[in-house]
Amino acid sequence: MLDGDLAVSSLTRLHDALTESSGTLIYHVEGDVGCDGRSQLSLAIGGSLSLCCQRCLEALDYPLDLHSLLEFVDDEHDLTQEELEDDSRDFLPNQKELDVVELIEDEILLALPTVPRHDSCRLPAGSDAASGKVSPFSVLAATRRQA
Ligand SMILES: [Zn+2]
Repeated sequence: MLDGDLAVSSLTRLHDALTESSGTLIYHVEGDVGCDGRSQLSLAIGGSLSLCCQRCLEALDYPLDLHSLLEFVDDEHDLTQEELEDDSRDFLPNQKELDVVELIEDEILLALPTVPRHDSCRLPAGSDAASGKVSPFSVLAATRRQA
């Protein structure tokens, strides 16, 4: 069992998605052995990240409350179809040394929304025209308004 906290600034692979890298996350890792004799690791991660809203480009507070169950296998080819389709756990190849921070970073990356957005916010005035970029969503919304 392992409890600790992690500075967001140390999770460098997350930085592209963040508006700021201050703050800390807390984690809890617990090892166990599953009913089929495989090592398992349950991972809990909590805290909050400051993502960049893809609509208004302002900071978006994203609360993290992740719980993952990882199971270690000697050979991923041993897994049955049923196990592969089981969403309640993830499988990882057995490895001699486990980098917990890297695992935590992986889990967070998987959990982050690909297009983080506030529930309701506005595009910054003139930004689309200024950048020359138009999001497919805004085009769709405009089409709907005309219809
Ligand atoms: Zn926004």
